[in-house]
Amino acid sequence: MLELTGASKKYQMGDNTIHALRGVSLKIEPGDFIAIMGPSGSGKSTLLHIIGLLDIPDQGSYKINGKELADLSEDELAVFRREVMGFVFQQFNLLPRMSALENVALPLLYSQGKLQVELALPLLERVGLKDRAGHHPNEMSGGQQQRVAIARALVNQPMMILADEPTGNLDSKSEVEIMGILKQLNDAGITIIMVTHEDEIGKQAKRLIRMRDGQIISDERVMEKIPLNPPLNKGEMGKVQNGAARFQIGHVIQHFHQGVKTLAANKIRTGLSMLGILIGVAAVVTMVALGRGAQKAIEDQLSSLGTNLLVLRPGAFRGAGGALAQIGETTRLTMADAEAIKEQIPAVKEAAPGVTGRGQLTYLDKNWNTSVIGVSPSYGRMHADTPIVGRFFSDDENKRRLRVAIVGTTIVREVLGGKNPLGETIKINKVNFQVIGILPEKGANAFQDQDDRILIPVTTAMRRLYGKNYIDMIDIESNLPEETAAISTQTVDLMLSRHRVPLSQRQDAFMVRNMADIQAAFSASTQIMTLLLAVIATISLLVGGIGIMNIMLVSVSERTREIGLRKAVGARRGDILSQFLIESMVISAVGGILGVFFAWASTILLSMVAGWATSITLSSVLLSFFFSAAVGIIFGLYPARKASLLSPIEALRYE
Ligand code: ADP
Repeated sequence: MLELTGASKKYQMGDNTIHALRGVSLKIEPGDFIAIMGPSGSGKSTLLHIIGLLDIPDQGSYKINGKELADLSEDELAVFRREVMGFVFQQFNLLPRMSALENVALPLLYSQGKLQVELALPLLERVGLKDRAGHHPNEMSGGQQQRVAIARALVNQPMMILADEPTGNLDSKSEVEIMGILKQLNDAGITIIMVTHEDEIGKQAKRLIRMRDGQIISDERVMEKIPLNPPLNKGEMGKVQNGAARFQIGHVIQHFHQGVKTLAANKIRTGLSMLGILIGVAAVVTMVALGRGAQKAIEDQLSSLGTNLLVLRPGAFRGAGGALAQIGETTRLTMADAEAIKEQIPAVKEAAPGVTGRGQLTYLDKNWNTSVIGVSPSYGRMHADTPIVGRFFSDDENKRRLRVAIVGTTIVREVLGGKNPLGETIKINKVNFQVIGILPEKGANAFQDQDDRILIPVTTAMRRLYGKNYIDMIDIESNLPEETAAISTQTVDLMLSRHRVPLSQRQDAFMVRNMADIQAAFSASTQIMTLLLAVIATISLLVGGIGIMNIMLVSVSERTREIGLRKAVGARRGDILSQFLIESMVISAVGGILGVFFAWASTILLSMVAGWATSITLSSVLLSFFFSAAVGIIFGLYPARKASLLSPIEALRYE
């Protein structure tokens, strides 16, 4: 039923070619008990691996029940192996994290898609270890471990058992036990093929094959084999090919279960790689939330100001060198310009001069650098900045250049100690000012605090604070929103007629922007900031992914023998691939979920402590969650593929 013809196997070791097998031909009948003997290096294991489909000969034919096996794919071989063969190794190769019972049931994970421990229990009983079912391999003696391994080999009801030095690591008492079990199995009709170098063991077989230098040198029958009637007909090709194509959701659930167990066994390592993903996802979600919050806050503030506001500023110049300053002077705006706009352009309701700058604020022992803006009395109404406490300064106060100030809430809190500041005297750039009002709260975002500012009369700002005779901007209010476009051109024309600007610079000499423009500019710049932050955060997510890949690669090389064993008991490539892929996905998915929670908590904290506007959107959460899952798949794929492509025998040999 099993026929090997002219099987050869070579290994290349540097310049040396090692002929492990040199044209071996062999027929094996069902129910036989064969010992393969010979000195070390004679090719015994290689022959056994080829018979067991763990290895493929370079040359020659191998048929089981007349079917040529060279034609089968690797996955079909895996299924054939688990249906027909059971393996027993010198090193037992039990999985250390599983109990004896689970170890016995392991092949069922691949043949039935489930660790059916109830099927494994009778087999443990058969090898006399029923009371050890819950023990782990490190709690058992060598002989007991080997008996568990034999029970594992039996769980798929194989036609034959292939044993490579099964007693090689055992004391003589265990040796007798193991041989006893193997003989019993043979009596029950299972073919046994065993490699050994001990004559004592070899003599107990019914057929003795001796090898030397990759060839069979003798083949003698010691005892009659039991007649098998009818011959076993397991492992028919149809069934095998079906099995190879089968994909079950149950498999995935089982792999998931196993993956979580493995990850739980390596808590620190798993935790650290999760941390990488956690930080990445948390960073992405938080950054996007901050950016969105800033954008939304700015949009809200600007749109509340109305659409009938325009701002006139001197333009940006392209002139080279000395020409620049001169042109700068000719386009400087003056108080007279503001009055001219208001009087000469009919659609203009109000034109308010403004001076911007920064000032050093001192109060008692506090020092604070803030934005100090010189404005006219109409500013409060135009910008919805009417004080909530106290009052705005009057026209008269503005004209008389009085040193009065209206302060933002941040200043009240940080500098003035939170108490009612009305009537208090503060110093701005060493000049005394009296606080007469508090500005309404406008809020803050990650990029700026709208409440960290002081308004003072524009004339005071020019003469007493900044010492200049020009203004920085003119706020223009139109009667109707539709008129802003017309006002814009009229204003520029008026300014050009009032200032002698060289022809080449006229186009850029003055800039009139309306709120919609400003809003768009702000949005664009916060969008860029958001994008930039998100990109940086994404990089940390990628770094997290590389961390996962690293850990998985370590895990693959650490578990190479385990992979070899799983393949030997019938795992196909896809099984190994999904096992490792599921592990890396679990790491990144759990890390991702924790990261979202972390981001949620930190944005709440940021808006509470720093007062920043934030906005977590469902889309950014979903995006980063799927992104982190994708990171798990992409970075897990390479190690998982690497594991799945290992040849079972190379993997089993790995030290
Ligand atoms: P035995 O089991 O009789 O000790 P093996 O079948 O293990 O012998 O090995 C036969 C020969 O092939 C030995 O010389 C061994 O060094 C060589 N060999 C086996 N496997 C490999 C391998 N993966 N790479 C290189 N040489 C190998």
